[in-house]
Amino acid sequence: MQPVVFDQADPTERGRAHGELWREPIGALADIRLALAVRRSRFGSTEHVQQAAGAHLPVLERHLPGLHAELLGIAEGANMSPEDIVVLNHYTDLRDVPPSAVGLPSSEAEQADADPGGCTSIYFTGVEGPVLGQTWDMHASAEPFVRMMSVAPKGTTQQSLCFTLTGCLGMAGLGQDAVAVTINNLSSTDGGVGVVWPAVVRAMLDAPSATDARERLYALPLSSGHYYTIADGRDFFGVESSGQRKVLTQVGPRAAHLHTNHCFDPVLRQHEAVPRGSTSFARLNMATTLYAQHRPSTLDELWTLLGSHEGAMQGQLCTHQDEVHGDDSFSRTCGRLAIRLRTGEVRAARGCSKNDAGIDLKMGRYNAPPALPPGKMSRFATVKG
Ligand SMILES: [Zn+2]
Repeated sequence: MQPVVFDQADPTERGRAHGELWREPIGALADIRLALAVRRSRFGSTEHVQQAAGAHLPVLERHLPGLHAELLGIAEGANMSPEDIVVLNHYTDLRDVPPSAVGLPSSEAEQADADPGGCTSIYFTGVEGPVLGQTWDMHASAEPFVRMMSVAPKGTTQQSLCFTLTGCLGMAGLGQDAVAVTINNLSSTDGGVGVVWPAVVRAMLDAPSATDARERLYALPLSSGHYYTIADGRDFFGVESSGQRKVLTQVGPRAAHLHTNHCFDPVLRQHEAVPRGSTSFARLNMATTLYAQHRPSTLDELWTLLGSHEGAMQGQLCTHQDEVHGDDSFSRTCGRLAIRLRTGEVRAARGCSKNDAGIDLKMGRYNAPPALPPGKMSRFATVKG
């Protein structure tokens, strides 16, 4: 999981280098996700999924032209169509886009109740200052494609250290100005055509502060729901979104914030459909219990928590639903990420905690945040709702 460095100043060249380097795994993952998108969405065919994916390209170009160029570069380097790279990047959101939003007829999804994947995110301020991290739970067949990459364009002071997949712009990570972003998927019923969500993450990581990152998020049209953890060592914002709405549900850099894959906000709950097989409630219960029991205060302790197999299968934070169902399209913890904001250190791993203890990385370009002024540390999770 050593990060690959993409330092090309030109975004198209940077994407092309990404696409060329990982051409084979990008093709394999794009095939997997295209097939899953047909199976788990209301689009009736691969052509319809690709058509819907294509509708997202002009929206990306209009709002984030540099990341649009990078995505086209990935497609070119990997010898794939831009539409297939959108499917690879935007798979979890595409499933929630109603075909009518792109003028297509609906068909019944074959397995709409299957666990769509998840993620458990945890933030707290401990003896090392603010730390945050997440498990990344996704269809188990995604695990071989998990990578770390450092985007550090020559001639700039920018760097984003991203947890990602081959062919993906980035899913979570840390930027040069100490803006960290983690993500939890939410299943929305008001989905539409929006900016592909990994580009939203990258745009936030580049921001000069958590406040700016939050404003960037608010300014972009989205396709479907996510919970975004945004922290920079001074501020903390937890934003839940659906396709059409964004709500700040958690704030406060000293509090502990836990989240899984269902909305806390009562209005957003009206616009979500948590799939029947979801482990989200069980994982949130387990994360809250483990947090209260262990009172983690360091990145090491957060890491142990994220890799926990305590409890019944349904609630384990290191999840193995693919083994429960005997189907690699079900959810598994495909990776973990943890960030110590004060120092710009990042720990990352691929797959189950039993198989990968993680690698420690450090940002090369990093404007460390000042220590939080003295004050009372909140040691308990403030889970709202
Ligand atoms: Zn495990």
